[in-house]
Amino acid sequence: MPYSINKECIQCNDCISRCPTGAIQMMEDGRYWIDPTICNQCEGYYPEPQCLSICPVDSPMPLPAKKGRNKVNPRPITSQDLFLNGSTNTFASALVIWELCNILTQKQSLPWQIDELGHLYYQRKVSRNRGKLTFKVTDECEWNSMELLQQKAAEKAIAQLDIRSCCLNLIYAAHATALERPWEQEFTINDQQIEQYLGLEKRKDLSKLTKLTLIKILAQQACQFLVKVDWLRHGKIPGFSIPQDRVWHLVNIEHHVQEDDLGCQHLTGLTFQIRAGEWAKYFFNQEGYWQRTAFYQYGNLPKSLLTQVMSIWQQHEGAVRMILWLLFKTKMGKDQRITVQTLMRVAYGEERMGEAASQSGGQKRLMRTFESNLEALSTYGLKPLFDPETYPPEIQPLWAKLAELPDDPEAALEFWLEDGRGDHSLTDVAPRGKWNRLMNARLLGFDLPSDWEQKLSAKDQSQHKNKQKINKRKIKTARKDRLMGSQITLARKKLKLSQRQLASQMGKSQSWVRDVEKGRFHPKGEDQNKLHQILQAEVHVENK
Ligand code: SF4
Ligand code: SF4
Repeated sequence: MPYSINKECIQCNDCISRCPTGAIQMMEDGRYWIDPTICNQCEGYYPEPQCLSICPVDSPMPLPAKKGRNKVNPRPITSQDLFLNGSTNTFASALVIWELCNILTQKQSLPWQIDELGHLYYQRKVSRNRGKLTFKVTDECEWNSMELLQQKAAEKAIAQLDIRSCCLNLIYAAHATALERPWEQEFTINDQQIEQYLGLEKRKDLSKLTKLTLIKILAQQACQFLVKVDWLRHGKIPGFSIPQDRVWHLVNIEHHVQEDDLGCQHLTGLTFQIRAGEWAKYFFNQEGYWQRTAFYQYGNLPKSLLTQVMSIWQQHEGAVRMILWLLFKTKMGKDQRITVQTLMRVAYGEERMGEAASQSGGQKRLMRTFESNLEALSTYGLKPLFDPETYPPEIQPLWAKLAELPDDPEAALEFWLEDGRGDHSLTDVAPRGKWNRLMNARLLGFDLPSDWEQKLSAKDQSQHKNKQKINKRKIKTARKDRLMGSQITLARKKLKLSQRQLASQMGKSQSWVRDVEKGRFHPKGEDQNKLHQILQAEVHVENK
């Protein structure tokens, strides 16, 4: 319970310098109040509240529960709401915003380095050396201060980042799209808008103060990073260097309070004034884009993404990292092949991947987490398309295989009976070497939730749909033509070939044939073709 100052206060000013968190502040009329989003009762600093112990009139007291409704006091006019169509809004999708999302979600997992002055920095080089972005950490409040945190303080700040602050980065990037010159103009948003964007208005289990505290922390954390950009000529756009500047300037936070009968101030609302940093002049400049001097990069932000992050961040941190990364990577609907290794690096970081590879049981645990995170993505609507060559059913997650189960109970029974007859069953334990195979596996892309695709042009939509159709056809064809272990054994025996002879014709070891026949692993494209050529006649007869 935070403390508050009641009407007994004689404004002696003694408590301000004693407060270790800076929670005691002066109001416009000269009276004092305690910001309840900052006061922590001196926990971690002193055994008892310092304001209370110093106060000559015992004014500080635990903040009493607020009674009655919040008064509707006039509040500053805000910028226009986002998501006016109910589901999507454009947002500035420049690399700076993508990388800030990565920082806010991947935190210490990123390769942070230390410069010669002892400051932590994270650098992202752009492919083919087209440019580099260098991020550094500063304090969270003073918008006009560029003071960098020293290594230890920066590490602490990064460790304390709340993954949900990436939503505020995206909300700011969406509000910036309503401005002509966002690096000069400010936008104003309040707690009610943020509550609604994040779906917090439905959280009846959280008190108003808890929500306000959370919103303030998230809003500040998204403004805590500086970026310096060095960019080489790209097409007709000349190279440029952007000096170190905040990605987002938190110009002002206005606290709205309501006084009770004891004179205690209750926080009832927050209004934030934000401005984009210098990066926007080069990456989100419509005029510059027409004059070929700057970029104007924007994408489509689905509201469902924000609410999804807010609902799964605790159980599926890896899935949140993947969703955010995919928002930029899939470039709003365009298919891209993605290796499982890359996705796992995004979700868990290099260090955890290395630990999993070296610890007994670590690989299994990480594979389980990955499969569960993929399922969370799929439930949201980001359905992975497994590459049949490198990511065949025997190494796919069980939930993906069960998705093929027929709905009709009789057909489902038949499916399970058929499944039990073969050498290789749907519920088999993972085959040997699954980790190594996963490290070489690929996803052909993702089926996207409908609101992710909404803003695609008609041409892009039809291209995307055609690609999806081709991918799905490829997967089906590959499944249909695939020789199962039992089929290979039967065909080999009909041809009176021993495992050793088949292995020699295949140019493989005998144990390879044995493993394939036992269904321990599945041959890939070229090997499948060769098996077809050698066993073709017999397989054909068998299939009839
Ligand atoms: S209880 Fe401690 S943290 Fe809270 S206002 Fe008083 S001195 Fe500051
Ligand atoms: S709360 Fe007490 S110590 Fe603080 S200004 Fe008021 S009278 Fe002084």
